[in-house]
Amino acid sequence: MKTPGTSKSHVHIPYGRHWIEQDDIDAVVEVLRSDWLTTGPKVGEFERAFAHFTGAKEAVAISNGTAALHAIMNALGIGPGDEVIVPTMTFAASSNCVVYQGGTPVFVDVQANTLLIDPAAVESKITPRTKAIVAVDYGGQPCDYDALRKIATKHHLALVADACHSVGGSYKNRSVGTLADLSSFSLHPVKHITTGEGGFITTDNPELAVKMRRFRNHGISTDHRQREMQGTWFYEMTDLGYNYRITDFQCALGLQQLKKLPAWIQRRQEIAHRYAAAFAGSDSIRPLNVLPGLSHAYHLYAVRVPATERARLFNDLRSRGVGVNVHYLPVHLHPYYREKFGTQRGLCPVAESAYEQLLSLPMFPRMTDENVETVISTMHELAG
Ligand SMILES: *Cc1c(COP(=O)(O)O)cnc(C)c1O
Repeated sequence: MKTPGTSKSHVHIPYGRHWIEQDDIDAVVEVLRSDWLTTGPKVGEFERAFAHFTGAKEAVAISNGTAALHAIMNALGIGPGDEVIVPTMTFAASSNCVVYQGGTPVFVDVQANTLLIDPAAVESKITPRTKAIVAVDYGGQPCDYDALRKIATKHHLALVADACHSVGGSYKNRSVGTLADLSSFSLHPVKHITTGEGGFITTDNPELAVKMRRFRNHGISTDHRQREMQGTWFYEMTDLGYNYRITDFQCALGLQQLKKLPAWIQRRQEIAHRYAAAFAGSDSIRPLNVLPGLSHAYHLYAVRVPATERARLFNDLRSRGVGVNVHYLPVHLHPYYREKFGTQRGLCPVAESAYEQLLSLPMFPRMTDENVETVISTMHELAG
């Protein structure tokens, strides 16, 4: 097998990589030759398969993970004056979705050993305006949903999971996608499975699912295919929605990818165990903790290195062909949030200090054992 991303001069191992095979291509081509390129039968088929995979009652396919989060905030009725609690150690889309709806994201800190949202910090930020909590399963490790559910119930808040890192994972034998009231997923190529661009929302609430399906189609109550089948031209727009639809050829690709997901998660876990064993005795390379009672989906494999060494290591590793990355600059430190919401350094000290130390190592199912050993030996050589 060709090493992913190999160039003639040196091996390059990226931090993440999609995996497309002939069966994926065939499935897409078949749809391209059919009558329905979008809003056709593959969308519902993919939704049923994803609902079945996660165990959720409803899965709504949508154009990307950010649109999934936007649809969630719309379905919850988030608007001006409402506050939504979001951990700062995440991709900006986790909080941007609140801003799209005119709401205010309230950033909270994470726990140092896992970089997952700190339930005590959540509780301290609740006000009469708080409407929802967004939990982000950083790197693929599910958050403490029992603790979060207790807080949400006590304060009558919606619990949202940004599960873009954790598809296929589980918490106390309950699968990701069923742990919150609404969960968002991304099908971007760097995530576990891909449709190019794509996303999902899962929920057990059928009314919210109806609302989100309308939201992804301009707020119109029927779609093109339903009208075609009913032989009618009549439709009404009942809410303000967007065009957040996903195409049938994307869903055909997604259906093939989903079949491979269990084996891919297993391979990610194998790679993680090898990394964990290799770095167990190191003072300068420190993996995050994995808590008992859960299955980690390993979108990322993040380690901490000394803050003073991080920039050098990033550059040296990359020049040696090991494509490390950094996840994430805490969202409250982005200029947009500083300017519009007045957030600043000191708000979430754990995340701020973790950010200075983080490196994400290559992690994707197609990595060969040889790739994994190259990452390990290069890390040991450069970081000690
Ligand atoms: C990837 C990602 C998103 C956004 O997904 P897109 O499909 O790229 O829009 C949102 N939240 C988190 C945590 C992500 O990693």
